[in-house]
Amino acid sequence: MDKTTSICPFCSLGCGLNLLVSDGVVTGIEYLGEHPNEGALCSRGNTCYEVAQHPDRIPNPLIKEGEGFRDATWDEALKLIASKLSEIKSKYGAKSIGVIASAKTSNEDCYVLQKFARKVLETPNIDNPARVTQAPTLKVLVESLGYPWATCLLEDLEKADYILMVGANPIETQPVLARRILRARDEGAVVVVVDPRRSKSTWKSDLHLQVKPGFDLELVMSMLNVVLQSKLEKEDARRTPGFEEVAKLAENYTPEGVEELTGVSAKLVREAAYRLALSKRPFILFSHGLTQQRRGADALRALLALAVAVGVFSSGGLIPLTDQNNMQGSCDMGCLADYGAGYTSVEKGLTLAEIIEAAARGELKALIVVGFNPAASLPDTKLVEEALSKLELLVVVDIFPSETTKLAHVVLPACSWAEYEGTYTNIEGRVQKTGKAIDPFNDAKPVWTIFSELATIMGASGFNYSSWIDVFNE
Ligand code: SF4
Repeated sequence: MDKTTSICPFCSLGCGLNLLVSDGVVTGIEYLGEHPNEGALCSRGNTCYEVAQHPDRIPNPLIKEGEGFRDATWDEALKLIASKLSEIKSKYGAKSIGVIASAKTSNEDCYVLQKFARKVLETPNIDNPARVTQAPTLKVLVESLGYPWATCLLEDLEKADYILMVGANPIETQPVLARRILRARDEGAVVVVVDPRRSKSTWKSDLHLQVKPGFDLELVMSMLNVVLQSKLEKEDARRTPGFEEVAKLAENYTPEGVEELTGVSAKLVREAAYRLALSKRPFILFSHGLTQQRRGADALRALLALAVAVGVFSSGGLIPLTDQNNMQGSCDMGCLADYGAGYTSVEKGLTLAEIIEAAARGELKALIVVGFNPAASLPDTKLVEEALSKLELLVVVDIFPSETTKLAHVVLPACSWAEYEGTYTNIEGRVQKTGKAIDPFNDAKPVWTIFSELATIMGASGFNYSSWIDVFNE
């Protein structure tokens, strides 16, 4: 039996594991005690390999014919895509083409895809599903910290004496991380949850600030108000650029003054804020519950000011909890409308929602979608379906058929993560290598290979990679 070191492909913690392979088939998992997840996996991680070997995978390239699809060779499918893309680009211009990248494929896949979009198609219109859940997090953290990932290691959480979780439910959504939170609590850490709902995380908390939906901003500002009015802010907080402006605004948010808006008693807010200000090793975790709301970016700015005031950046840590396994890497690699690889400046392109809206208006003519199912995953699926149906060319690269592949003109089979080597970046910014455990399913190829070949067919140079390492090094 062979072993291949890999990671779970189902969430942004990136728990490590060994895939056990016998006669070319993954037969099980071996736990990796030395990995930062300490060998722990949740039920998704324990069964992750079943996806790679599922018989419903897309076996080979498919070209739309009448109401259905016919099988095609790679050569035929890529040449058809190349000629249609060139035709659309010369007829309507490069900006009539859009690309939706995946938050699940490897860093190398994401890097080559955005390079293909910007250098070969010459379109700035590339984005990824992180836009739906992560836009405020990306914007505010890149503006404030210069990077959008955790400021500490996940294992540092166990040193916490206070954990504030805002709009996050990690005990249910990321159970392996929950182990660290519960260990810290067992050692005496105070756990405070801000969430309109009762959840498994609130059951395990010491204080639950059950804020009314949409009023996290007022609640966080009232906690900052308590810290500042009590003169408990850290010595260097007021030297932090931008802090004074938020501190001034916080004067208007007394817990009593916003009690009716937030639905949280002033007494509870004061207790949570005092204990946070007096903690020695405060950690803050937040997720979509904070950011995916009207004023989500402002709520996050307020939370960062609170973090500065109580010393989270100097003696604790800030952890943004994302969901998909390579949401971080897809953004780092530049699959974003507003940033290139490494968060460099680029010409601003259409965001994910704007791509769909442009298609609905008939302005976007061609779209490439990788590892994402907008026809089922985005709001207003009817509008999305109508928009995708108007395209002159829809190319979908995925491992399984979906509502979106049904609308495609060409479908290309991608490898699953177990079938090729690559790297993925978790919420700590930890770049982790996965090995090739099994051969690709039928004709499937890695995404970076598909777009390197397509670029070469379209006459572009700079895509002659001999392996994933060439892409990684670039
Ligand atoms: S916590 Fe996330 S990465 Fe870890 S095993 Fe579960 S789904 Fe996979």
